[in-house]
Amino acid sequence: MTNSAFSTLAIKPELLSSIQSLDYEVMTPIQAQSLPVLLAGQDLIAQAKTGSGKTAAFAIGLLNKLEVLNYQTQALVLCPTRELADQVSNEIRRLARTIPNTKILTLCGGKPMGPQLASLQRDPHIVVGTPGRILKHLGKGTLKLDSLKTLVLDEADRMLDMGFHEDIMQIIDSMPRQRQTLLFSATYPAGIKKISDAVQTDPVDIRVEASHHSTQIKQVFYEIEKGERTNTLIALLEHYAPESTLVFCNTKQQCQELAAELRQQDFHALALHGDLEQFDRDQVLVQFSNNSSSILIATDVAARGLDIKELAAVINFELTRDPEVHIHRIGRTGRAGSEGLAISLFTASETQRLKAIEEYQGSPASIEKPSSLKTRENFKLYPPMVTLFVNGGRKDKVRAGDLLGALTANSVLSGEQIGKITIFDKISYIAVEQKLAKQALDILSEGKIKGRKFRVRRLR
Ligand code: AMP
Repeated sequence: MTNSAFSTLAIKPELLSSIQSLDYEVMTPIQAQSLPVLLAGQDLIAQAKTGSGKTAAFAIGLLNKLEVLNYQTQALVLCPTRELADQVSNEIRRLARTIPNTKILTLCGGKPMGPQLASLQRDPHIVVGTPGRILKHLGKGTLKLDSLKTLVLDEADRMLDMGFHEDIMQIIDSMPRQRQTLLFSATYPAGIKKISDAVQTDPVDIRVEASHHSTQIKQVFYEIEKGERTNTLIALLEHYAPESTLVFCNTKQQCQELAAELRQQDFHALALHGDLEQFDRDQVLVQFSNNSSSILIATDVAARGLDIKELAAVINFELTRDPEVHIHRIGRTGRAGSEGLAISLFTASETQRLKAIEEYQGSPASIEKPSSLKTRENFKLYPPMVTLFVNGGRKDKVRAGDLLGALTANSVLSGEQIGKITIFDKISYIAVEQKLAKQALDILSEGKIKGRKFRVRRLR
């Protein structure tokens, strides 16, 4: 057991007293695990969500190291949104209250440059900001990172989602290699491992919610009559109302037919199969992974290499012949902390396949009747987000920060209401909350991005 009193840490007395004045009595689990590593100067990759106390963890680490008499920028915290950057600055300020003359500056996009330039007349000790604006100041030479000791990437997964990868890499190019790099992320998609490999040195990996490894999956089989598949699928969607569902079909024709039928019933369903052109495949994946489509219907081949996790439900429209494929399919459901749902439909003629699965998994299947499903009149399953398509991309020098800046400049929309931003060579996609789709569309179509007009439309 780790002792979770802050007094067990080797930190400056004034920092300890500010922690006490904030009434932080014991360390949160992420603090107890990460602070010894942080204080020892090691790199760290930590799984931590908002509310875990991660901000105080890295703030204590970088304040403890700070040399106040050295008027150079010693720490940089990169955040995906202005809102998060403000919260992080506030937490650092509160903890720094007992360390006189600490200068902390927030540099975010969507804010006028003038005051930022004035504040940069004297180098701040700690800078917190969003990648686009930080890069802009580096370009102007108004921010210097050549004496940087600590870099923090906060909500790194969200920064990657918002298309900040290149900006982050460019920012890192202008800081010393010899530094401490701390990466905090709620999820660990492939991109996180890649960026960690590229910018960290032997990071200590801390996952407080490690129990997630043995994700619980609730698996139910429904025995149906021939010709009842689509109706049962709709009943399942009504009964369970899963936020995101991956439906497996055995053929691409079935994928297409099912998607068309579901769309006719006003479900937001998209099909993914081997016949799609790259452009269409990308577009389907963008819409599903940014939560603007609730149902993805795929063949096993098309779903191969699909980096979509955290699915609320996986539904097997038909059973597969290969029990190993079945286990692989259902393993995609389950999210951190909550149970996954795996449902399979089968008819009497598929009983052999069911037996093979039972044998392979070493336990009998739990079989239920479709009549047990509660169906609902006028049921709607709307995805939380909507995707906007912009006919400009990387080759037009459009960056995530430009799109975010254009959307949030007049403060009608906030960064929190904007989801994943995906940039391709010639086009970009932006996810925004469903209820703000029209406003976002108007802002982008009427305004300019990087001084240019782009065509913007909403994907259905
Ligand atoms: P965060 O996960 O960094 O967004 O922090 C969540 C909240 O927990 C913030 O309001 C912090 O001020 C607060 N907090 C951080 N560490 C502690 C602690 N050890 N004890 C009590 N509250 C804390």
